[in-house]
Amino acid sequence: MIQYTLKCTDGHRFDSWFQSADAYDKLAGAGMVSCAICGSSKVEKAIMTPRVRPARTTSAPEAPQQGALSEPAGAAEQALAELKRKIEETSDYVGKDFVREARAMHDGDAPERSIYGEAKPEDARALIEDGVPVTPLPFLPNRKTN
Ligand SMILES: [Zn+2]
Repeated sequence: MIQYTLKCTDGHRFDSWFQSADAYDKLAGAGMVSCAICGSSKVEKAIMTPRVRPARTTSAPEAPQQGALSEPAGAAEQALAELKRKIEETSDYVGKDFVREARAMHDGDAPERSIYGEAKPEDARALIEDGVPVTPLPFLPNRKTN
């Protein structure tokens, strides 16, 4: 079975299940797929919005196209900028040592402090499973290269 999000010429969107992609093509070709809302048989597969990938925590370039997307900063963006500023002010950036540092603090091998840095998703998951409180940041840290 395969699920498609379909839309009719009136812009109604609905989800429908089909035996297979072929089955969909045959039914649609025969005009047998109709809009769940208005019954129109002029229906096509809606363009799916790709899911946003989780923020890369490794070697992603520092948002190179940021200037190109010159949308005015919305409230959410400003809140994010504020959060980022706060974290950068009050926490130490430990980069790729994050997992080791977080674990050391959790185990009492290092003094507790606020840190942020980079962890692979599987490492972050392992930390959480071990009871280390980590939170994914909604932004990529600025690398401090000095
Ligand atoms: Zn419709």
